[in-house]
Amino acid sequence: TAPLAELDPEVAQAMAGELARQRDTLEMIASENFVPRAVLQAQGSVLTNKYAEGYPGRRYYGGCEHVDIVEDLARTRAKELFGADFANVQPHSGAQANAAVLMALMNPGEKLLGLDLAHGGHLTHGMKLNFSGKLYDVESYGVSKEDHRIDMDEVRKIAVAAQPKVIVAGWSAYPRHEDFAAFRSIADEVGAYLWVDMAHFAGLVAAGLHPSPVPYADVVSSTVHKTLGGPRSGLILAKQEWAKKLNSAVFPGQQGGPLMHAIAAKAVSLKIAGTEEFKDRQQRTLTGAKILAERLTGSDVVDKGVSVLTGGTDVHLVLVDLRNSQLDGQQGEDLLHEVGITVNRNAVPFDPRPPMVTSGLRIGTAALASRGFGDEQFTEVADIIGTALAGASDVETLKARVSKLAADFPLYEGLEDWRLI
Ligand code: PLP
Repeated sequence: TAPLAELDPEVAQAMAGELARQRDTLEMIASENFVPRAVLQAQGSVLTNKYAEGYPGRRYYGGCEHVDIVEDLARTRAKELFGADFANVQPHSGAQANAAVLMALMNPGEKLLGLDLAHGGHLTHGMKLNFSGKLYDVESYGVSKEDHRIDMDEVRKIAVAAQPKVIVAGWSAYPRHEDFAAFRSIADEVGAYLWVDMAHFAGLVAAGLHPSPVPYADVVSSTVHKTLGGPRSGLILAKQEWAKKLNSAVFPGQQGGPLMHAIAAKAVSLKIAGTEEFKDRQQRTLTGAKILAERLTGSDVVDKGVSVLTGGTDVHLVLVDLRNSQLDGQQGEDLLHEVGITVNRNAVPFDPRPPMVTSGLRIGTAALASRGFGDEQFTEVADIIGTALAGASDVETLKARVSKLAADFPLYEGLEDWRLI
């Protein structure tokens, strides 16, 4: 019964430190967000105690009457939010959702066609050290050298030659909409299943601010913790005909007992994702990314060899291209860290620098939009980043501007430490 701070001061102190870090800096890692307090409450709950292997109404454990309600709410909300026939909300993470999708759609040794990791794809789309690259025969498509966009004629050519069993669309680092209708038509032409991994842009889809893959894809997977703004976890949507195979691939195929506390938090975040407030937040996320792209194509930045891939963005992130800059990705990440802005370095397509260094930065706006940022604040943060990358101000001055923004938009007010969740 002892509170954490008494029982385990070392962990409690590190957690308090993390809360302070989140409050005092500006979070611009494109795959991160801040969950609402209700999501923290659901996740930090007694539901963590419950084993519930199986699915609502068909469990392998007794005492599941309450967690059944929770999982049913999460499934129903996921289906309604995205207009899907079927939902599985048990995947512990995006990668586990994807493992289950691949297990349901294809057999080991069969061919998977996905976006190259070096061009913005995800590890689970066929990277050679990942289970996807080890179990399946992987072919990749990339972006074009000229405009850094996915060229659907090229994808078609590769698909016709490769004859994959599954084509995956979706990305971890790509700043534009994908043409889901064209992916569907290519999949039909070569007799492949179409899987879309909307992990990054699911929140935008939920708000109606990004084309939905659901009408086109056989199966759609997602994380819940990026633009969707929920707990760290995954989910799968599909046409009804895939229900049995997908359920079996998640449990018992890939996982044992579901994390019912995480599923409760998913249910809460999916409820929130249906609100006007959420839509407004996604709109501010998009506008913020556009403001950032515009600032980072300003002449002072361009003069330093810095540019923005594809010249702009349709989504919640901007990919900064440092191939012609003195700064590499590592130095750019470190410089912004010093200023108080957290981003991640990211390889750009055709990157001449090694993967631990890179020539790019991936900068996202979802977390700051959740914090309340609108046009005015995004204009200020974009200018701080632009000025930093142009080397036009000293770190201390920029840091003071970051601190002011952070102080003006307090995070988790009243949550003096984790105990008050
Ligand atoms: N799919 C995509 C497109 C992603 O970007 C990510 C995470 O970065 C994942 C899946 C994996 O999610 P997780 O980190 O929850 O396993």
